[in-house]
Amino acid sequence: MTAKRNIPFFNYPALFKANEKELMAILHDVMSRGAYILQKDLEQFEANLKKFLGVKHVFGVADGTNALILGLRAAGIGQGDEVILCSHTYIATAAAVHFAGARPVPVECGVDHMIDPEQVKKAVTDKTRVIMPTQLNGRTCDMDALQDIAEQHGLIIIEDAAQALGSRFKEKFAGTFGLAGTFSFYPAKLLGSFGDGGAIITNDDDMARKLYLLRDHGRNEEGEVVTWGTNCRLDNIQAAILDWKLKTFEKEVARRRAIAARYQQALGEIDDLVLPPAPGEDDRHFDVYQNYELESGQRDALKKNLADHGVGTIIQWGGKAVHQLSGLGFEEIRLPVTEKMTSRFLMLPMHTALSDDDVEYICECIHDFHKSAPQI
Ligand SMILES: *Cc1c(COP(=O)(O)O)cnc(C)c1O
Repeated sequence: MTAKRNIPFFNYPALFKANEKELMAILHDVMSRGAYILQKDLEQFEANLKKFLGVKHVFGVADGTNALILGLRAAGIGQGDEVILCSHTYIATAAAVHFAGARPVPVECGVDHMIDPEQVKKAVTDKTRVIMPTQLNGRTCDMDALQDIAEQHGLIIIEDAAQALGSRFKEKFAGTFGLAGTFSFYPAKLLGSFGDGGAIITNDDDMARKLYLLRDHGRNEEGEVVTWGTNCRLDNIQAAILDWKLKTFEKEVARRRAIAARYQQALGEIDDLVLPPAPGEDDRHFDVYQNYELESGQRDALKKNLADHGVGTIIQWGGKAVHQLSGLGFEEIRLPVTEKMTSRFLMLPMHTALSDDDVEYICECIHDFHKSAPQI
């Protein structure tokens, strides 16, 4: 066994250290211009993100959760409406529906950990208005199946693509399939800011107009209030940093895909593990590996063993699907497939501060664990 390493699940200080000079220069530039709210750095970032995704409208907003709330509100979703989502998602997805005034309806995920289209079909009622798929862990759902259901029942799709900037299904970017799509720039996300941030995108002009007004107190271009709105603006300093990071974003994704390929190569033979799809395994999908979420029948023992060897892992969302959280009104709901999976999920470190040696060490630790642990 090689010498013990200390590999945190995510390394926030390393992100700053790696680019300290450039980041401080951006801060200096923005602050000496006194440019904080709705300034040109935000406009520039929105324009560049628009170009990258090939969409008509991009709005930088306060965070990924509020991006979802704004999207639902702009789409006219509220009291009496139902929104179908995958129970294996962040509470934010369901909470956004709740705070828009509608009812979140969590359903099962499939073997790929993404919302199961068959279960979506079954959950449709005469109150259903929206399917809100989470583009989880950097993968885009089978959007053909979801779009078929939406069309059949006259439903809107709003994508929670918080984890999937740059991910594609059949060459189309996550976030561009429905009426709107949302992203999060939380520091640990693929494109991370140094604080909170998010965006909402749409190709629909009417939707865009509503989002424009909603984001900034209902004010039009002249600063005149013409409708109810709120404050949901992306900070200009964060936008400046994000715009700079967007330039190297594809390199970042390539590195994540290389790490995923190495995990697959090194761990693919271990019977106890179910790994995420490898890069290029299914040519309909281009995955960006926001997370590397595997399944293990010995999850808790593996997690502890890795921690003892200095490797940080995380059980996404504390090992609970949305419907398993107490106090939210989901007590009656049972989703056996998801419930079984939540006791098996584990995320390995996946970020660009990982060196090749770190990745080898993590794989070696997992191999050693499975050699010594009793196989079930
Ligand atoms: C991160 C995340 C969000 C929320 O993003 P914030 O910017 O933290 O509000 C929503 N949905 C999913 C699936 C996420 O991973």
